[in-house]
Amino acid sequence: MLYASTRGNYGPLPVAEAIKLGIAPDGGLFVPTGRVMLSMEEIAAMASQNYQQRAVKILGPYLTGFTADEIRSSVNDAYNRASFDHPDIAPMAELDAKLSVLELWHGPTCAFKDMALQILPHLLVKSMEKTGENEGILILVATSGDTGKAALEGFKDVPHTAIMVFYPEKGVSEVQKTQMVTQEGSNVGVYAVRGNFDDTQNSVKAIFGDAAMQQAVAGRGFKFSSANSINWGRLVPQIVYYFSAYADLLARGRVQLGEAVNFVVPTGNFGNILAGFYARQMGLPVHRLVCAANENNVLTDFIASGTYNRNRDFKCTISPSMDILISSNLERLLYELTDFNASRVRQWMADLGEKGWYTVDDTTREQVQSIFWSDYADDAATMSSIKEIYRRYGYVVDTHTAVGLHVYNRYRQSTGDDRLTVVLSTASPFKFNASVARALLGEEQTMGLDEFALLQLLSDFSGLPVPSALSDLANRPVRHTTVVDRDQMPEAVLDFVAQRR
Ligand SMILES: *Cc1c(COP(=O)(O)O)cnc(C)c1O
Repeated sequence: MLYASTRGNYGPLPVAEAIKLGIAPDGGLFVPTGRVMLSMEEIAAMASQNYQQRAVKILGPYLTGFTADEIRSSVNDAYNRASFDHPDIAPMAELDAKLSVLELWHGPTCAFKDMALQILPHLLVKSMEKTGENEGILILVATSGDTGKAALEGFKDVPHTAIMVFYPEKGVSEVQKTQMVTQEGSNVGVYAVRGNFDDTQNSVKAIFGDAAMQQAVAGRGFKFSSANSINWGRLVPQIVYYFSAYADLLARGRVQLGEAVNFVVPTGNFGNILAGFYARQMGLPVHRLVCAANENNVLTDFIASGTYNRNRDFKCTISPSMDILISSNLERLLYELTDFNASRVRQWMADLGEKGWYTVDDTTREQVQSIFWSDYADDAATMSSIKEIYRRYGYVVDTHTAVGLHVYNRYRQSTGDDRLTVVLSTASPFKFNASVARALLGEEQTMGLDEFALLQLLSDFSGLPVPSALSDLANRPVRHTTVVDRDQMPEAVLDFVAQRR
């Protein structure tokens, strides 16, 4: 399998190159140039396999040039009981005969980014070896919370890599900040930046693109790379859990082989749901992919109208990991649905850059609408959803998953489609405990409590244990205290690499 850029001016090239580069030099995203198809027999055979075996099966055809041993060891190093607190890795809860919840947050940071970021470092290091790169990799991350911690956990102590994470000093929650400043590992750096997330992200991008900086870190034996969700190496591991969920449904006799199901996906950058699209292309029986948004509902409008318009106010919501107005991975979908029409994709992306909006042609819009459905939940609907799910099923969900469950109800009411549906749960309720506790216990009981007290309160109320990754947080030693201004970030990078070798 070879990979090419959605903008048409780069590739085809091997997967190791695509993973190493992350983003294509022409500004596009790498996509596979061929199709991988699984037969019903192959899907049926997954029912008796564990998550790791299913992962090897799905990743294999996409990772041409990786040996079977390399894929197996990457999978086993990523998905194991030392890192995940559930033997199924991505277990499924059954709420009723028609509704299952796929829990993607049993990894080390309690959010679904672990599903990809636990394996990406292994794929990246092997990709560097395969492409004859003998420098170390320096990962730079700007984070508004979840990605930074998940990347730190994924890359910590991975040989030949180092990672620096920059977060806005006042832009992350107390739990998220504590998760990062207590980070262990000999190759990690964590920095608070005086500024907001956009400032931080823009500065990181500027460092990536600065030739003098590239040269300076090369002098220390490092090359920049990125761990964000446009890297194919982060997307492909996410295809696995769609198959895994279906295999579990088969194994439990909840669906017949070939029977189509729906997936509901709480969506921000369109990475998670795009993996579901690829699973569907590969032959997984998927009826609809339901895109669940919060008030930053740019995707809901796109799916309804065919117009993507980011000219609107950015809203800070209680599902912050979905507060995004530019869903980068949508570009891959458009490229696939137009039968690899790079010139059309280029035009739309140019329009997005210049005017802030574009409208796809009718055929593309109809195709989008035949596969996807979308609606959104505002904060009030999200809070009621948490409460209602608990009342009805005794099941506690985080704010992002609550958005998904709200939109599931809307989907069922609007379409009358009552086939079995899997809602993807993207974070542990303990990770966003302030909102969850407030939804379940009310304003009065939670007022004035800090996030650590709320963890305990939520645990006492729900009878669920606080995940070990969060339970001892308040007692862990703080290891990272540096605060920098935006313009000091390049210097911080140079200091950091100077200490490496
Ligand atoms: C990142 C994230 C999302 C959004 O996923 P995308 O792949 O960006 O669409 C949803 N929920 C949580 C908890 C996340 O961390």
